[in-house]
Amino acid sequence: MKITKLTTYRLPPRWMFLKIETDEGIVGWGEPVIEGRARSVEAAVHEFSDYLIGQDPARINDLWQVMYRGGFYRGGAILMSAIAGIDQALWDIKGKALGVPVYQLLGGLVRDNIKAYSWVGGDRPAEVIEGIRKLRAIGFDTFKLNGCEELGIIDNSRKIDAAVNTVAQIREAFGNQIEFGLDFHGRVHAPMAKVLIKELEPYRPLFIEEPVLAEQAEYYPRLAAQTHLPIAAGERMYSRFEFKRVLDAGGLAILQPDLSHAGGITECVKIASMAEAYDVALAPHCPLGPLALAACLHVDFVSRNAVFQEQSMGIHYNKGAELLDYVVNKEDFSMSNGHFAPLNKPGLGVEINEQLVIERSQQATDWRNPLWRYPDGSVAEW
Ligand SMILES: [Mg+2]
Repeated sequence: MKITKLTTYRLPPRWMFLKIETDEGIVGWGEPVIEGRARSVEAAVHEFSDYLIGQDPARINDLWQVMYRGGFYRGGAILMSAIAGIDQALWDIKGKALGVPVYQLLGGLVRDNIKAYSWVGGDRPAEVIEGIRKLRAIGFDTFKLNGCEELGIIDNSRKIDAAVNTVAQIREAFGNQIEFGLDFHGRVHAPMAKVLIKELEPYRPLFIEEPVLAEQAEYYPRLAAQTHLPIAAGERMYSRFEFKRVLDAGGLAILQPDLSHAGGITECVKIASMAEAYDVALAPHCPLGPLALAACLHVDFVSRNAVFQEQSMGIHYNKGAELLDYVVNKEDFSMSNGHFAPLNKPGLGVEINEQLVIERSQQATDWRNPLWRYPDGSVAEW
């Protein structure tokens, strides 16, 4: 079998799908994207296609190594996301060629289902109670919300009180019938992370995510030494070579590699295994589309340390399209009591409505994340 063509489709809400065709008629789909930089990833995918066209898609390991090591400069958000989506599509082709789901090719199931959690409350965490109530009614008992709005390097007690208030209201309304993680979103700087975590501790969040940015990763073990709350990070780390540093330094309780950013299935299975060796949990990051989610689920179902799966149904970013809009076999993604079942169709197990993809790709706008500024006009982290 030979790869004959790579086609990219930028799509609402902020996604990109990749279709890889072969000379035997088998087609694979993947989702290479960096939210807000889809065109840059698209260019990288097409640069890789110079090599990929004419190659045997079955040699995923070798193709991955060529894409990673074949260029003198490697790594980073753009290149690793391009590799990730290509890798997903190659696994999709392999599964379809052999007639088995990807999890079978990775050694088979370690669990029967996996808990999913739901985002609640949008970019600014107000009015989350009603959101949680609605989501509980459809089976979710685990949630994630932003831990705070923009916060200065040193900031005032009103901001802290606002953040704590939201969380206190959730515990008051639901007691311990639900769990929730708090995403600091890299908005918080090291001096305030200590303050905020301490104030939030009494409300027992399930985890604190990106308490500081990945480029401040040396603070993860320092913050972990000062709190009993599990610390999660990883959506802005792109390979084993970055994850090894945080695992070695200690401090993280949950790794959150993104299957569309960190080199795809091939790389994230290895990252999951590295985490297991350190007794660290896995919770793949996935605020993206159905192909990214499918890739996450295949890794979750073969990784004993996977604990829960993020998914983007109803997420505040999904303006213009929802998680399953482009999926034909929507029923395979239906959840029972907030849990996903394995995707059992060959390959990734996602049947794409290609006609709709082609149609909607013609109206795709370039999504950008908001640019936040502090009251004094300087740039704040979003
Ligand atoms: Mg996050």
